Amino acid sequence: MHNIPLGKTNLLINPLVFGTLPLGPLQSNLSVDKGGRLIRYAVERGLNLIDTAELYGTFATIRAGLADCTEKVYIASKTHAADAATARKHVEKALRELGREHLDIVHVHAARLADPFVDRADVFAELLMMQAQGLIGHVGLSTHYISAVRKSVEFPEIAVIHPLINQVGRGLLDGSAQEMAAAIAAAAAAGKGVYAMKALAGGNLIPSARQAIGYVRDLPGVHALALGMLSEAEIDANLAFMQGEAVSSATWDSLEQRRRHLQIMKPFCTGCGSCVEVCTEDGLRLVAGKAEVDDETCVLCGYCAAACPEFIIRVV
Ligand code: SF4
Ligand code: SF4
Repeated sequence: MHNIPLGKTNLLINPLVFGTLPLGPLQSNLSVDKGGRLIRYAVERGLNLIDTAELYGTFATIRAGLADCTEKVYIASKTHAADAATARKHVEKALRELGREHLDIVHVHAARLADPFVDRADVFAELLMMQAQGLIGHVGLSTHYISAVRKSVEFPEIAVIHPLINQVGRGLLDGSAQEMAAAIAAAAAAGKGVYAMKALAGGNLIPSARQAIGYVRDLPGVHALALGMLSEAEIDANLAFMQGEAVSSATWDSLEQRRRHLQIMKPFCTGCGSCVEVCTEDGLRLVAGKAEVDDETCVLCGYCAAACPEFIIRVV
């Protein structure tokens, strides 16, 4: 597969980005060794952008996967910090734990902020300072908001956008898939690099994965898409699909039969409600003092898992 320019950044990337959220403790919790081997396999197959975040807990896995790697592999991370000092700490921790002197992209992880340019202005400023200091290649924005993608066009210093989009618009917080698609096209036309997330709506569209991935792949302005992958077969199938190559229907049939859901270990739930507060999808409620998920609305983003003080929520 030919690598393509990510907007006006200097990065030439494979259009299939390795999303590491499912490898880590919020989801499948693979061992560092097992997750690292999957990353290594993906890199050997030509993937060259690995997407992570402070919240994902996957720095050690990525480091293991890229140990002794001679290929040029880019890393994008994200900070959910609410202030400049914490953002700097997040970047420094990522550099330390990844064993790198430079991160290629750092996003403001603002999935649920309608106007991160106001609410996280100090964080953007700090990341831009770290870019000037050579610690960051490009500053980006990761968002579930159409309005934030639209507004990004006013900020040329934001080089990369990592927006949520899928064909049913699941997880979008302020409009439809068509509206997000238009905002993405405008951002790309303004020079932003765009790699999309949640093409499979956190796993909910797995039964029609080819159609769902194809929808996002073919949107104007989408340069690449990040997918979480948990097996070599999945990496091979997605890579082939992105390249327009045939994959046996038996392989796809088996991949599309997987099911994922949110698991809450109820006996240990204290009913504190922290998970309910962070969910923007109305996916959780407290019933008789225990958290309960609504599978119809949950997009399997895993944010409730990060918020649970008892560590009893997981996407499995
Ligand atoms: S219930 Fe949890 S995983 Fe599902 S959408 Fe809400 S925060 Fe995300
Ligand atoms: S955050 Fe954890 S302990 Fe608190 S209500 Fe949710 S599942 Fe229960």
